[in-house]
Amino acid sequence: MDLEQVKDDITKVLVTKEQIASRVSEMALEIDTSYKGKDVLLVGVLKGAVMFMADLARAIQIPVAMDWMAVSSYGSGTQSSGVVRILKDLDTDVLGRHVIIVEDIIDSGLTLSWLASNLAARGAASVEIVALLRKPEAAKVEVDVKIVGFDIPNEFVVGYGLDYAEKYRTLRDVGVLSPHVYSN
Ligand code: IMP
Ligand code: MG
Repeated sequence: MDLEQVKDDITKVLVTKEQIASRVSEMALEIDTSYKGKDVLLVGVLKGAVMFMADLARAIQIPVAMDWMAVSSYGSGTQSSGVVRILKDLDTDVLGRHVIIVEDIIDSGLTLSWLASNLAARGAASVEIVALLRKPEAAKVEVDVKIVGFDIPNEFVVGYGLDYAEKYRTLRDVGVLSPHVYSN
């Protein structure tokens, strides 16, 4: 979906589709360089990472496998609690493999740090995190992110996989959601 369709709900475009495409290519190149010759499993976190995963995976030139997890973090409203429940687990065994967790956005970082230790405990050869977006809060937590696409301000964003109540995921760009949308 193009911005035109939802322009009244978006106060500002933070990252354009062109900026995303160009940064995704750079990130893929970094992965090609660091993981050459390794058995790599990309683990996408549903559903927000779907668009990022699809583009990143295709930009990567070394062979990689893809798998998916769905997790839900207990907590009230928009605050993540760090207590995570697995809604859909991997179909694949990670033992001895180099896992790259592919995530849309890191906010508190609690979900990801839990996920990274969970996968490491299953015997992965390595577990690294690649995230398209990172909010300033993430800097406060001990979550080691290998590659970040864009550092963004602490605002609620939608698009390129990110939703508000399952809307705006299909928007091509990433934009700040207008407060009038939550208050209705
Ligand atoms: P945290 O890092 O554990 O706080 O949780 C990050 C998750 O919260 C992300 O994977 C998103 O699903 C969701 N999230 C955090 N910030 C935003 C946002 O600005 N827009 C949409 N979803 C968000
Ligand atoms: Mg997510």
